[in-house]
Amino acid sequence: MSAGAGAGPAVGEVVDVGEWAKPLPGLDAVNGPYWKAAREGRLLIQECPTCGHRQWYPRALCTACGADPVWLETTGRGVVHTFTVIRQQGMPAFKAELPYVVAMVELAEGPLVFGSMPGVDPDLVAIGTPVEVWFGVADDDTGVPFWRPVP
Ligand SMILES: [Zn+2]
Repeated sequence: MSAGAGAGPAVGEVVDVGEWAKPLPGLDAVNGPYWKAAREGRLLIQECPTCGHRQWYPRALCTACGADPVWLETTGRGVVHTFTVIRQQGMPAFKAELPYVVAMVELAEGPLVFGSMPGVDPDLVAIGTPVEVWFGVADDDTGVPFWRPVP
């Protein structure tokens, strides 16, 4: 992989982002597989085996029909559906990254997912920008999906 200017993590790459000083999601029976998969470099959504509905974030039931959803591994690619630029944030771990983009990404597989784009120049982000996921290590069981423009 090139280490030149602008080079970032590859799609699905799990990156040691240093000491994690941001909130942790709190793993439970419903969301645990999602965060653990992210720690391994895989972005999961849920798909309903009964009606085919796909959803994010993780929930115990299909929001369309109430059946038990199953996990579906995504390509980790999508386009920016909409976004905002965060310019003020009081928590030190976030303040150090200002300004940063928080985007709603429309996955290639359909569902919309939220995520931030740390280190990405907000001027490089627009509605429709193709993006790809990478993962920051939060702890031994938890990875956090982040997004960046496709190079
Ligand atoms: Zn369903």
